[in-house]
Amino acid sequence: MRKAAHTAIAIVSSAVVLSGLSSFSTFGANVFKHSQSAAVSRVHTSGDIAPLPLPAGRPAGSADAIASLDHSAQPQRAKVDTAAQAHYAYSPYPSNLSLVKVKAYGSDVTTADVNHVTSILKEVGSVGRVSSFLGLRMSTPATIYLVRSSSSYAKLLKSIGVSKGDAQSLSEDSNGFTLGNTIIIPLNQNPSDADLANTLTHELTHATINQNISSIPSWMNEGMAVYMGFNAQKSLEPLVQFEGDEREYAEDILQVVQSNQLVPLTGDESAILAGTETYDYELQDWLAMCNLIHQFGISSIARLANALTHENADQAFQSTFGESVAAFNTQFTKQLEVAAKEPNSGALVTINVASHVSGSIQFLGPDQSHYQAVALQSGTHQIKWNKNGSLVSSLAGAAAEKPTDSPDPTSAYISVVPTTKLTVGKKQVHDFGFRFDFENGLYAFQSGWIDFTNGQVTDVTQPSALGFTITNVTELDTSNPIISMLNAE
Ligand SMILES: [Zn+2]
Repeated sequence: MRKAAHTAIAIVSSAVVLSGLSSFSTFGANVFKHSQSAAVSRVHTSGDIAPLPLPAGRPAGSADAIASLDHSAQPQRAKVDTAAQAHYAYSPYPSNLSLVKVKAYGSDVTTADVNHVTSILKEVGSVGRVSSFLGLRMSTPATIYLVRSSSSYAKLLKSIGVSKGDAQSLSEDSNGFTLGNTIIIPLNQNPSDADLANTLTHELTHATINQNISSIPSWMNEGMAVYMGFNAQKSLEPLVQFEGDEREYAEDILQVVQSNQLVPLTGDESAILAGTETYDYELQDWLAMCNLIHQFGISSIARLANALTHENADQAFQSTFGESVAAFNTQFTKQLEVAAKEPNSGALVTINVASHVSGSIQFLGPDQSHYQAVALQSGTHQIKWNKNGSLVSSLAGAAAEKPTDSPDPTSAYISVVPTTKLTVGKKQVHDFGFRFDFENGLYAFQSGWIDFTNGQVTDVTQPSALGFTITNVTELDTSNPIISMLNAE
């Protein structure tokens, strides 16, 4: 199942008609939403949200409806890239969590929920993480409201000035929302800690930008926020699981490229404002940010963010990267076009086998009908999985399973067939394994299974089961530009 998609809408003053975000400059009142794609669809739904009016004045929460809990945060000093400090305009020290208040909204959000979200913010170090990345500090408090139903979400959105229609659609399909210093997190749309880490850090990126930068193009704003959301998610997930997710998101954009629908980075805002997005622009923005980080280093983003505090977007980009946004967009798009044509190059797989179980590891490559197998052996091993499905490994060969009669061009499988008795509870394991989605030359971990001899099957969500762990999967063609971009995350 796909994780939530991220989509942006940008927001204009109801009093002023704007042709683009660069023309508005008052109190950073951008509104951001993430749209949740409920289906397993490979293409993100964009939600078609019309521009929101700019609410007047401060968000007004109903005081008695909001149970507040002030957490006493330990000041956190995230590591600062000392080489980059000289370039910062004014913020080498990251801000800490004490500026962020987490509050419950609605009787279905408990003190335990507030404590849990607070503990994730601390564990991930979201505030300091964002501050270090942007080279910008939060200077005024931000409030994170937790809601647990779309009705509470819609009610709170309306109370802070969002129109009824937009509150309704946002409450149904977004997994996070920021207006100025007010953040709303629907717990029902963020089921796992990794989801929460992603959305909280994404929204805090917007809040930090709102406090420091009066005007920023949507692609930079969302690119930074999505990058940081994934950055936080990565800190809580097994590597192969995280990389499976990011490959899936990258494939979405590569398929847009293949269908010739890609919109230039700077051309997206009118479509966003008009609610006519045809795909999830945020993912393209994220890859653009990854591309910049790959080329110029992560500290270049702090230089860009600081330049944006006192230069317009085009000047800030030019002074940071020495080229225009248009020139960057051209070469970025060319790299996506190369990546979209990437054939299968095979993959280098690293596994760790903790327990002494005998048996075989079966590999079924994309579009292959014949398995290739090596013997199960404890320890850490690398296996080169060639594009024709063959294996190169120091592990002994083993008998392959019977060929499949329906080769799958978009899947690859690694499974374990034990020959010694392996049980979970009282059930004996027949086999277990993992599926990788294969598109655009990318091996994206999806999920796994355990088959029992009694016919039952258990789902596995991580790239690990019964002491067998896939610790790394790297495509063999390292010249694929999308791999370089993803390695920036
Ligand atoms: Zn966003």
